[in-house]
Amino acid sequence: MFQLIDKLEKNNQLTKDEFIYLLSNFNQDVSKYLFDKARNISQKFFGNKIYVRGLIEFTNFCINDCFYCGIRKSNKNCDRYRLTKEQILDCCKKGYELGFRTFVLQGGEDLKYRHDDMIDIISTIRQEFPDCAITLSIGERTYDEYLKYFEAGADRYLLRHESANFDHFNKLHTKNQSLDKRKECLFNLKKIGYQVGTGFMVGSPFQTFETLAEDLLFIHELKPEMIGIGPFIPHKDTPFKNFSPGRLDLTLFLIGVLRLMIPNALIPATTALGTIDPKGRELGILAGANVVMPNLSPVEVRNKYLLYNGKICTGEEAAECRMCLQNRMKSIGYELVVDRGDFKPLEALA
Ligand code: SAH
Repeated sequence: MFQLIDKLEKNNQLTKDEFIYLLSNFNQDVSKYLFDKARNISQKFFGNKIYVRGLIEFTNFCINDCFYCGIRKSNKNCDRYRLTKEQILDCCKKGYELGFRTFVLQGGEDLKYRHDDMIDIISTIRQEFPDCAITLSIGERTYDEYLKYFEAGADRYLLRHESANFDHFNKLHTKNQSLDKRKECLFNLKKIGYQVGTGFMVGSPFQTFETLAEDLLFIHELKPEMIGIGPFIPHKDTPFKNFSPGRLDLTLFLIGVLRLMIPNALIPATTALGTIDPKGRELGILAGANVVMPNLSPVEVRNKYLLYNGKICTGEEAAECRMCLQNRMKSIGYELVVDRGDFKPLEALA
């Protein structure tokens, strides 16, 4: 197993069977060996710097019905909200003062924000915050829509593939969604020139080591600039309410694997990771992650954007969230930086 990790470090890749073997058999010693390598790579390229992204959850309306997600269309108990343009700009303003230089606009697939509204919001942020990166995370759109958002000033896009295995993807979603469509979106985003983030939940229902290996192979093929993974956590008002949450050790192990696969990738220690373990985000950084995403949404809507139960950071103000993360990072020897934190090619980092 140690040799497999050496091989992964050298080639940034393993075969499907090798991945399956590694994921099904790793233990604490192997994890430690992997995390040491992953952390060394992060430190070589990023030092002790951790990039911050201010997450603005601007709508929880959604036309989709993903079986895992708490803001799915069929959840009648979800109290829906939609931030106005002014509220969104206000979040950015507050965030800017706190040192954020990336704003992530995330939401359900909410078609009430017409195409023109999105363009208006993006171009206004672009004008008012010229030194900041704008990341979108609003699901599947047409090539033309992605292009228009890019031209309006968006720089990055997060769209997790969720599962690279067709059967597994279909077990997580209703019939109107498909893996083919998802992949097409991701390749379109790349083609347009976005920095693209993809990823998956660890321990989602019906996931196997084989589907996980396929996820890793797909990531190798797509070569995303950002990779977000976090444990699946059940939500009481979804069809998956009785499934167990994903494993901490496996999520951390996969973060380490992803760091070896794409050494210069931007990999967040996610809120979901911090939700299943009080030290989850710190452990994520120590396993090779280099990004955190504090919440910038207005406090009054925080507890309405519940993708899963038990979500942390729903009560604090943006400033408190940032301070809390800053202290957490400091406690393990890292510092949050005021920086857009763009993806850079290896040559530029070495
Ligand atoms: N609607 C957008 C963005 C919001 S969802 C989109 O679909 O891209 C953002 C991510 O949260 C999803 O990609 C999914 O992987 C994750 N997520 C959703 N429900 C979750 C749950 N129950 N547990 C853990 N992560 C979840």
